[in-house]
Amino acid sequence: MGKKNKAFVEKITAMEDDFAQWYTDVVKQAELVDYGQVRGTMIIKPYGYAIWENIKDELDRMIKATGHSNVAFPLFIPESLLQKEKDHVEGFAPEVAWVTHGGDEELVEKIAVRPTSEVLFCDYYAKNIHSYRDLPKLYNQWGNVVRWEKTTRPFLRSSEFHWQEGHTAHATDADASQETDRMLEVYADLVEKYLAIPVLRGRKTDKEKFAGAKYTLTIEALMHDGKALQSGTSHHFGSGFAEAFNITYLDENGKSQYVHQTSWGLSTRIMGALIMVHGDNRGLVVPPRIAPTQAMIVPIAQHKEGVLDKAYDLRDQLQSILRVDIDASDKMPGWKFNEYEMKGIPVRIEMGPKDIEKEQVVLVRRDTGEKEFVALNELESRLPALLEEIQQNLYDKALAHRNEKTTVATTMDEFKQTLDEKGGFIKAMWCGDVACEEKIKEETTATSRCIPFEAEKVADTCVCCGKEAKEMVYWAKAY
Ligand SMILES: [Zn+2]
Repeated sequence: MGKKNKAFVEKITAMEDDFAQWYTDVVKQAELVDYGQVRGTMIIKPYGYAIWENIKDELDRMIKATGHSNVAFPLFIPESLLQKEKDHVEGFAPEVAWVTHGGDEELVEKIAVRPTSEVLFCDYYAKNIHSYRDLPKLYNQWGNVVRWEKTTRPFLRSSEFHWQEGHTAHATDADASQETDRMLEVYADLVEKYLAIPVLRGRKTDKEKFAGAKYTLTIEALMHDGKALQSGTSHHFGSGFAEAFNITYLDENGKSQYVHQTSWGLSTRIMGALIMVHGDNRGLVVPPRIAPTQAMIVPIAQHKEGVLDKAYDLRDQLQSILRVDIDASDKMPGWKFNEYEMKGIPVRIEMGPKDIEKEQVVLVRRDTGEKEFVALNELESRLPALLEEIQQNLYDKALAHRNEKTTVATTMDEFKQTLDEKGGFIKAMWCGDVACEEKIKEETTATSRCIPFEAEKVADTCVCCGKEAKEMVYWAKAY
């Protein structure tokens, strides 16, 4: 790297030195977010929002393809409504932001700013579901919610975040189960195929499940520093909420029945996963399928006659094939290289007088830094193939990292030692007793991440108490 570019790169802390600082640096330098005025809030800047929009658009398409409709419910929840389901209100109470005044007047009943919208949907369903013909109700909404968090980090834990929340009502428990499974699979698909992040699919323990749920399904991803990130959850409520809110329908025989409900959500937290799974010491790395700009043309010696014209021609030619842009500003090419590496743009296309003479360009991959010369007349077939190679390589790398950082532990000493020395996921047997789960958390700070759908047996006894084991659990320190 030339001296001219050095100062720019030095602004990022190396991830080996201080991972948390590296994360903050990338978020800032890649121009993803800025801090809001109220503690823990964030301003998602154009580049950050463009990535989120690509994720959102893809997920929205999948949600609609599985039969759901989008709706928009209010931001506000009356206190009495929030308190109707006991476990739910207990789970969220410490994080609720309250509106107590309207103008100068104190409100008779205080109003919660939604931390999640289950109760609003339940209230609506109670009034609008009458017969088995009204079922299923398959609603989704895109919106923002507020949770008054004590410690906050951009994307990972913010006082306000953006997400989608699906809320559905079904005639039977089995229908609701199917829905819970289906939506988890939609999330897994999105995260694996578009974000190139491999995920573990499984069920949360009762201690870790959503407040008020019968059970919670989750996808869990492993970050570069060996910590896990819950990346999407799908909850089966059984008829718990229906009983609290009296949501009933008349079945085919005219008999009154409770509905069975689900909810599922995926938030801007996933942006944190994207940064921490693929990023490196040169900045962000964005998988091609969700990259707002998949290739950036950087003209070399652009002051020379004909170079800019050719570069613009190239952009026009490629626009129907991929999301391509050109930087014809008067910044030095080296500076531009650094900037687009920082932003994680998958491919850089260099084009200078010599290339024009030879009717070729130089392609540089963000993920590996590899360069290749490609003839202009082969570019239209080479670029899409290259983007797919990058997408696959990012996934393969992340999977290899997760495999390397997944370790079996059969004793607490092994458990602790592995966690200290290499972090990552620990596979260990569990007796099913919450006391052991709590003890493990206390002694190691690792939490149970999920009980995988495909049951495994790595020992006969619980890693903590030595009694007969019921399940194999993935454990990890987590965000
Ligand atoms: Zn135990």
